[in-house]
Amino acid sequence: MNLDYPITYIKGVSVQRATLLYTELGIKTCNDLLNFFPFRYIDKTQFYTIKDLQPNSSEVQIVGQITNVKSVAQKRGSRLVATFQDATGTMELVWFKGQKWIKDSLKINVPYVVYGKLNHYNGSFSIPHPELELVTEYKKKLQTKMQPVYASTEKLTNSGVSNKLMRSYIQHLLQQVYDGIQESLSQDIIDDLQLMHKRDALLNVHFPKSQAHLAKAQYRLKFEELFFIQLQLVRKKLVNKTKIKGFVFEHVGEKFTNFYKNHLPFELTNAQKRVLKEIRKDVGSGAHMNRLLQGDVGSGKTIVALLAMLLAIDNGYQATIMAPTEILANQHYTAVSELLTGMNINVDILTGSVKTKKRREIHQSLEEGTLHILVGTHALLEDKVKYKSLGIAIIDEQHRFGVKQRAKLWNKNRQSPSQPSQREEAKSPSLTLPKGKGTDKTEKSLPFGEVGGALPPHILVMTATPIPRTLAMSVYGDLDISVIDELPPGRKPVKTVHRFDSNRLSVFKFLKDEIAKGRQVYIVYPLIQESEAMDYKDLMDGYESVAREFPSPKYQISIVHGQMKPADKDYEMQRFVKGETQIMVATTVIEVGVNVPNASVMIIESAERFGLSQLHQLRGRVGRGADQSYCILLSSFKLSAEAKTRLKTMTETTDGFKIAEVDLKLRGPGNIMGTQQSGVLNLKIADVVKDAKILVAARNTAIAILQDDANLVKPENLPIKTAFSAMTQTSKIWSNIS
Ligand code: ADP
Ligand code: MG
Repeated sequence: MNLDYPITYIKGVSVQRATLLYTELGIKTCNDLLNFFPFRYIDKTQFYTIKDLQPNSSEVQIVGQITNVKSVAQKRGSRLVATFQDATGTMELVWFKGQKWIKDSLKINVPYVVYGKLNHYNGSFSIPHPELELVTEYKKKLQTKMQPVYASTEKLTNSGVSNKLMRSYIQHLLQQVYDGIQESLSQDIIDDLQLMHKRDALLNVHFPKSQAHLAKAQYRLKFEELFFIQLQLVRKKLVNKTKIKGFVFEHVGEKFTNFYKNHLPFELTNAQKRVLKEIRKDVGSGAHMNRLLQGDVGSGKTIVALLAMLLAIDNGYQATIMAPTEILANQHYTAVSELLTGMNINVDILTGSVKTKKRREIHQSLEEGTLHILVGTHALLEDKVKYKSLGIAIIDEQHRFGVKQRAKLWNKNRQSPSQPSQREEAKSPSLTLPKGKGTDKTEKSLPFGEVGGALPPHILVMTATPIPRTLAMSVYGDLDISVIDELPPGRKPVKTVHRFDSNRLSVFKFLKDEIAKGRQVYIVYPLIQESEAMDYKDLMDGYESVAREFPSPKYQISIVHGQMKPADKDYEMQRFVKGETQIMVATTVIEVGVNVPNASVMIIESAERFGLSQLHQLRGRVGRGADQSYCILLSSFKLSAEAKTRLKTMTETTDGFKIAEVDLKLRGPGNIMGTQQSGVLNLKIADVVKDAKILVAARNTAIAILQDDANLVKPENLPIKTAFSAMTQTSKIWSNIS
């Protein structure tokens, strides 16, 4: 029987039930059913002793004797309680229904095998409504193996599709197809990693012979699942590199060199230099660059972006940098303009608040090519914004933008072809990679660097939200990744403490001392307006109490929040930047990228309300100058366990990657930026967090295979090629990220 056949081919599956299984669980073909894995198992292969019971062991099997049975009155009716003991301890068996009948049938001081779901309450264990079997009976029977339990829905259960029925369907199916299940990995991989063969893995994941068999089966299937995803991502990356052409920035020219020699205000860190090299290599290769730059807050990504833009300009192209907020766009604009003073480079800014007349001017100078660098917000994505020859597009804080928005930047050159045709090659399932890693010489000499030509700009996306390495492999596995893992010299780690609201007075005292030293401070609130949840610290309330504590004219306060007009925000922001105000009361609008080196204290009100990455971002606003900086996390007394972990993590480390790891563990991949589009949430059996090691093994294997045999033409890789083609054709392709 072919695995592509609908499940009605399986004995006992009616058309009605097949329809139901499809609508409820998405199971259509035999293959779907075979890959519908149990979510847990009833394990009757193991016996526990009472002493070894753990509050988390769900179903247990124990041998012991009932020593006493009694009825216990409770609010409504009564319950039947039996004291059950083995050589190691005592526990209870409890019944709420059928008490009389059970009471009569229970035998005292006779060995039983008891099985059931374990409850743990007030330090003692009990099993409600256990399965009971006399040991003498138990010994007569053939011992059952571990039983699979499948996810179900109310509709299915109501229509009689019980777990038992599912088991029998799958059992029938396995009997019919077992011999025909094809291996999808090469013998080399199986040998190297000592993997279970596919058919045995499928058999044992549904009907495990033992815990050990189950573990091996699960490992094999998780590996396989992650391997084929990685194969696809790694391959896409190789195809991008070798097939999608990009402008060649052939020379490092006058602008770049002049800036580097005469205008760079500091020496680049080694990490910055390394990343710059990686970018230069990309843009000189003739292939299209699609690179992610990760770097903690304050690591100095902007200057790297600027140098990359100068490379483009030196080669006759334009450059653009897009930021998620006006504040940040303004800041980039100011920084870039200042850094480029006297260099004869035209820089402008386009945001939602730019007036029509000015807008027209920008559009025109862009199309004429006289405007070299355009900084902006989402406004850059409007159709009217067209470039003469956009060489590089940089996206700051990329996770703030949707995939579609980022994709729009591909088409910004006047005669760009539509994006799909550019991408077609990358998606086509036919394996036609040129051999080896280097780019083909003949391709390189094609005239694709022509100014105003039809190529997409190089793309550099930047993020200060570090993504744990393993997650990045899945989410950005087809991008090249650069990391700035070093802060500029002289930075002192921000001292972070957690204080309760009741300490506010001493915190304010501390602020006064810092302000007296000439420093500036941020006070951040989680919400803009009083919400239904009354315990939120309202920004305005906060502002008033701060204003009382820090009276004018001695103290000047800025306030910035999301509901202000951009011009007002900017005005307040500028006052703070210029040092006219010492205190910035704000909501999280200042979270992203704002740079005021003289600010040395960050107070976060209701810190328990913030997620870890947000807290880390906020803290990153200080510690940018030479002074010792502080972050004070204020919270109420009542904290959830998770909130405690978050606050503790913040006080213990300033390493963004470590924080990201904790965040991932706390919240799972579903809440981490970027994962929603990536498919990591649709995994059938693997888990990107828990199975990180398997993921690394899968990726390394995929890289090794493709490096050795890019087109999978070697006979030993035939099983992989066959399986891979089948998968890509059924279109379970992960969406593209940038
Ligand atoms: P982020 O990576 O968070 O965007 P920025 O690019 O805003 O960081 O840089 C943070 C600050 O560090 C800026 O004031 C910038 O001028 C400064 N900076 C960047 N690189 C260096 C360096 N190599 N040495 C000293 N200061 C640097
Ligand atoms: Mg930045």
